[in-house]
Amino acid sequence: MINRLTIIGVGLIGGSLARALRQARVCREIVGCGRELASLRQAQALGVIDRIELDPGAAVMGADMVVVAVPLGAMESVFRAIAPHVGADAVITDVGSAKASVIGAARRGFGTMPAQLVLGHPIAGTERSGVEASYAELFAHRKVILTPLQQTARSAVERVRDMWQATGAQVVEMSVEHHDKILAATSHLPHMLAYTLVDTLARMGEHDEIFSYAAGGFRDFTRIASSDPQMWHDICLSNREALLAMLDLFIQDLGRLREAVGNNDSAYLLTLFQRAKQARDHFAQQFKA
Ligand code: NAP
Repeated sequence: MINRLTIIGVGLIGGSLARALRQARVCREIVGCGRELASLRQAQALGVIDRIELDPGAAVMGADMVVVAVPLGAMESVFRAIAPHVGADAVITDVGSAKASVIGAARRGFGTMPAQLVLGHPIAGTERSGVEASYAELFAHRKVILTPLQQTARSAVERVRDMWQATGAQVVEMSVEHHDKILAATSHLPHMLAYTLVDTLARMGEHDEIFSYAAGGFRDFTRIASSDPQMWHDICLSNREALLAMLDLFIQDLGRLREAVGNNDSAYLLTLFQRAKQARDHFAQQFKA
């Protein structure tokens, strides 16, 4: 049971978490904090939060659980603002899409890495943003990755695990480095490809005609290019090294594909497509993707 949950950043992720925990009846009170009074009022009107606080320091006072769900670039300033006010026994967690950068933000914002700060990342989302896009079922049957450090209090990890499990999510633990490498491959690279493909086509002279003929495949592949640009700017720069490694690998493979098309290399093309189809079919069956 959470007595007072404070969510800083009541958008898609923060709002969905609040809705899910409310539905599970595990919070007595939910305090929402952000920069815009209008979006917090909307969250309150939607029944997502009970109380509004614009000042992060005031928002965390008396909270036993604090969830920071702001864009990665805003983590440090939020940590700095709450540091003097958050209770010694309160558990703090975040939902940022890259984890090593949050350690840096915490060290600068708190002046140290607090033992009660548990780094986390729900592997769930949509291309939409804001509290109006939030819904209670977002995390059901999805994974949440926690990346505790050696100095993280085990009791805090367990409280964050309990919170996410109450949303219907499956909680796993891994190291920060492993998380950032895996997410660069499965999430950050695909977003770069979708954004770049749409941008390349949009800058072509006949873009209206091109998009008018786009069918289901194009729609499937590019849905994520509608995601929030600021959020993805922050993710790119926060997980720079791991993303660069994946981009290099992909550029190398794309170069090989170009060469094969140029050389009418049927064997290369068929082998590549067969291997990829097999891998995708296997993955779709195993993980119900
Ligand atoms: P979002 O819908 O845009 O929500 C972000 C919220 O943060 C907004 O309510 C915004 O409200 C608030 N905010 C922004 N800057 C702030 C600041 N300086 N101080 C206080 N509040 C601030 O974004 P989201 O998709 O929920 O993403 C939030 C976090 O979740 C990000 O770190 C992202 O990496 C992570 N994440 C996203 C997804 C996804 O698919 N979207 C999945 C997993 C994790 P105001 O404008 O009112 O301040």
